[in-house]
Amino acid sequence: MIVGLTGGIGSGKTTVAKMFHALGVPVYYSDLEAKKLMVDSEVLSGKIKALLGEESYLDNKLNRSYIANKVFTNPDLLAKLNAIVHPAVKDHFISWVKNQEFPYIIQETAIIFENSSEDRFAKIILVTAPEKIRIERVVSRDHISIEKVKERIDNQWSDEKKAALSDFVINNLDLEKTSFLVAEIHKQLLKLSSFTSKF
Ligand code: ATP
Repeated sequence: MIVGLTGGIGSGKTTVAKMFHALGVPVYYSDLEAKKLMVDSEVLSGKIKALLGEESYLDNKLNRSYIANKVFTNPDLLAKLNAIVHPAVKDHFISWVKNQEFPYIIQETAIIFENSSEDRFAKIILVTAPEKIRIERVVSRDHISIEKVKERIDNQWSDEKKAALSDFVINNLDLEKTSFLVAEIHKQLLKLSSFTSKF
């Protein structure tokens, strides 16, 4: 059973994904894997250089700030980059998932509803937090400006819109409460996956 885990920038989806992982659930970190593929795959890096320029890489490493500056203010370029990267991540995910034996797996990904991929998931978990807190978290984690974080938030769907389409919503403020909720959802997903595999 494939469970999607999503949330806006700074909501804490990676933090929540790690909690599921600590319970033994296999987790596929889409952004992380995408960044690895963007460096390791020559086909992919060639396409990215053709789209965004040679400066997309510095010493064979991804020039993240250059790429972010280019695409986060230009929805057309972002869509083109996604159209290059997403199919490669999808193929990699499919081969990863085949090797997992747990009753369910989690795919952590920033985008589910925005690209209408909700049908790929048996269940969807949404992580939320108030915008002000998300901005504070990202500014202190990435040392970027408040304006930059706001620009990225404006490119994503609102929590309200996503919550209406999600099966579980974790309002991630107090880490202990989040961890408790994760354990509860884990129990429900285990039950659901054993039910699904019987019928
Ligand atoms: P992004 O979309 O940028 O990848 P994310 O949704 O995966 O972000 P995280 O990286 O998990 O978010 O969290 C952002 C920052 O906030 C991290 O530094 C993390 O340690 C911190 N954080 C996450 N949850 C909490 C919380 N409940 N209380 C305090 N800090 C938190």
